[in-house]
Amino acid sequence: MKTLPLGVEPVVAPRHIFNDSRSLIGLTHKEVAEKLREIGIPEKQCRMRAQQIWHWIYFRGAKSFDEMKNISKEMRNKFAEHFDVGRPEIIEALISKDGTRKWLMKFPDRQEVETVFIPEADRGTLCISSQVGCTLTCKFCHTGTQRLVRNLSPTEIVMQLLVARDYLGEWPSPSEGRLVSTIVLMGMGEPLYNFENVKKAMQIVMDDNGINLSRRRITLSTSGVVPEIYRCGEELGVNLAISLHAVDDETRSEIMPINKKYPIDELLTACKNYGGIKNSRKITFEYILLKGINDSDEDAFKLVKLIKDYKIHAKVNLIPFNPWPGSSYERPGKERISKFSKIIFDQGISAPIRTTRGEDILAACGQLKSESEKARKSIKKT
Ligand code: SAH
Ligand code: SF4
Repeated sequence: MKTLPLGVEPVVAPRHIFNDSRSLIGLTHKEVAEKLREIGIPEKQCRMRAQQIWHWIYFRGAKSFDEMKNISKEMRNKFAEHFDVGRPEIIEALISKDGTRKWLMKFPDRQEVETVFIPEADRGTLCISSQVGCTLTCKFCHTGTQRLVRNLSPTEIVMQLLVARDYLGEWPSPSEGRLVSTIVLMGMGEPLYNFENVKKAMQIVMDDNGINLSRRRITLSTSGVVPEIYRCGEELGVNLAISLHAVDDETRSEIMPINKKYPIDELLTACKNYGGIKNSRKITFEYILLKGINDSDEDAFKLVKLIKDYKIHAKVNLIPFNPWPGSSYERPGKERISKFSKIIFDQGISAPIRTTRGEDILAACGQLKSESEKARKSIKKT
């Protein structure tokens, strides 16, 4: 697609702005069939019609019932009277100079979330939000400073993938060579504080009647909500990334208040058991490098020691701190970051430094925050 000046994509005015309570997106097969039953579709047709609708939504990317040509016009009209398969309003669609894209979408209650697409040589990663804002106030995170917070519904979570594919032109759903090949739940919010909805949305995305994305291509990132980590392993089985960011409780509690509730020992015990004892899965530890806070040689040695002491099959992802307007930390220098990474690598644990993507459009890790919230703040200041 052609990049316009300033990297702004034309925002396509949707014909339908979706209505959450009428939307069939984010409902299971069974639930769609049940909805059809409620509007008087004959019992023996409900399953088949639900299957057709699923195919149109998740395989063909239909945004209206009108497109569903193998369903009679009369029935399509009846569906449109009661239901909706439209999209949310897209307030902003940006393209970074490195190809990263960001969409800001607005839901019917005027709440907004951001979704980011990161193209790489061998894959395309979609970073999905699970909440509007976040209650957890980690000190280094822009999302954590947003006061308005609510959980996203399964509809709103799945919708982010559909919107990305609309813009990328990825319909009908290809089985190979996909642009969106990987999903990471690393956008706004703490996914394990909205586990039920995240679980349902991911089950829909994994369903082989629709998008059919393998659970191995989905990674959930958490700040460490220990009880839900156990549930996530048992009930969803996606890859797990832990925002560790510090190796002692004092530092971690200072930068991540959730550590006071679930300290490092409890967190690492949950990681050790993720996926069951027999089936233990590789865990990714995310580690933000904050200058003078957690970036010393001793921190790097201690990180390796923790992983070894708890016998966790792990890799480390080093994330140089991404600044945002008003943030109070600094990114360490290049040499410090390389040394930190080398110490870990030298002891046999992979610790690549994550390249920052989409910084010019505030799309990098920890930079997401809704535009309206920013606008409200700047109005107050003037
Ligand atoms: N709430 C979840 C998922 C969203 S945050 C979690 O905390 O894991 C996604 C990742 O971005 C987390 O690892 C988070 O710690 C990191 N992050 C937050 N703010 C950041 C910043 N300013 N610079 C770099 N990474 C940041
Ligand atoms: Fe919330 Fe994650 Fe940001 Fe912490 S890092 S405030 S848990 S989104």
